[in-house]
Amino acid sequence: MKKSFIDLQTAEKLAQKYPTPFYVYDEQGIREGIRALYRAFSWNKGFKEYFAVKACPNPFLMKLIHEEGCGMDCSSYCELILSDSIGLRGDDIMFSSNVTPAEDFEYARALGAIVNLDDETHVDFLARHGGIPEEICLRYNPGGDFSISGAIMGSPQEAKYGMTEEQLMRSVKKLLGMGAKRFGIHAFLASNMIDPDYYPTLAGIMFELAVKINAETGAEVSFVNLSGGIGIPYRPEDKAPDLDYVGAKVKEAYDRIVVPSRLGDVSIKCELGRYITGAHGMLVTRAIHVKHIYKEYIGVDACAANLMRPAMYGAYHHITVLGKENEPCDHIYDVTGGLCENNDKFAVDRALPEINVGDLIAIHDAGAHGYSMGYNYNGKLRCAEILLKPGRKAEDAVLIRRAETPHDYLSTFDFCDIIKYPGSGQEKKDGFCGDNSGEEF
Ligand SMILES: *Cc1c(COP(=O)(O)O)cnc(C)c1O
Repeated sequence: MKKSFIDLQTAEKLAQKYPTPFYVYDEQGIREGIRALYRAFSWNKGFKEYFAVKACPNPFLMKLIHEEGCGMDCSSYCELILSDSIGLRGDDIMFSSNVTPAEDFEYARALGAIVNLDDETHVDFLARHGGIPEEICLRYNPGGDFSISGAIMGSPQEAKYGMTEEQLMRSVKKLLGMGAKRFGIHAFLASNMIDPDYYPTLAGIMFELAVKINAETGAEVSFVNLSGGIGIPYRPEDKAPDLDYVGAKVKEAYDRIVVPSRLGDVSIKCELGRYITGAHGMLVTRAIHVKHIYKEYIGVDACAANLMRPAMYGAYHHITVLGKENEPCDHIYDVTGGLCENNDKFAVDRALPEINVGDLIAIHDAGAHGYSMGYNYNGKLRCAEILLKPGRKAEDAVLIRRAETPHDYLSTFDFCDIIKYPGSGQEKKDGFCGDNSGEEF
């Protein structure tokens, strides 16, 4: 049984102060998850997790994740700004981008971040925009299909990321000539993997590649970056991967491939996003309408603009009707948001307890790729984010991002006075602002 980390009483107290919908995150859960990860890889000198900022780009969360020893994995200018804003520098930042603009590389280099190159052509591009550092990472794409014990888990041949082995070897040789001294290698071959053999299988491929790079070019391979991809149990029947097993199996591959080689110490890095915050964030929303036509619909005040995964991937997110945890799931509902899109459904044909208008509903496992994938379609506003401190009391909860207001939504029109919405101060002026309605280009 999946349990909500927040009960009805706590949620109601929060909702009195911060109107629904809102995201709520569990600090204790995040910290414990990171500690379990570090324990599993404690055998590896230099092991480090870089939290994939895109999963949950909130500097308050990033700060507490950093307190547990993690760096940040960024892929864009603004994600670098977030890391910069909490004071991170140097090897506390991994910059794993693709289709990278010049100014992003320049900023990453100015912060001293470890740069992870997605393509062979980026070697010269980086040389021009930021310069070549002594330690640099290269992203590998093995092509073909990626399988674990015979089962296909992904198709790297269809993925836009990384470079072929031949390109990677050429890049290493070129970079050596440009002053690079230590190399990392990176690959991300499948996502949301609850199969505990994902990292061990990937690690085996990467350790072999490291040995090959060293043998062919003489380059020092200082780290292997296993990237993101460890999944979480979204469905009640899913099983969370056993991290101790994962760590021990990666060690087996390390002992078999790296130890007898001439590589010396190779650090393991990873860039987990979903594993770190996914299960420790929920979207809390209120039922505002109950509708009966050909099916039963529960209309809630959140929508796909707050959490896009169900609409985008048909992703399953477990739902708890708060306060009704022990009631029988004897009603079948579609739980929907208010977008003018029929895929705006958090659940389809879901067995739940009877839901009444006013009920608070917790949508589970929304802590990663949840808020961050939000958008403003249909003029919907992004909601607040709240952090539950250890102890999980409403009284100690901290607002870590306020909800958007209409002013935020309209703020990109601030170069003209066309907007006369209630409260803007412009509404008293008469008429449409004809003459100065836009910039002249
Ligand atoms: C998205 C991404 C991650 C994080 O993936 P999760 O599935 O959240 O663990 C890590 N690294 C890179 C390069 C990514 O694009």
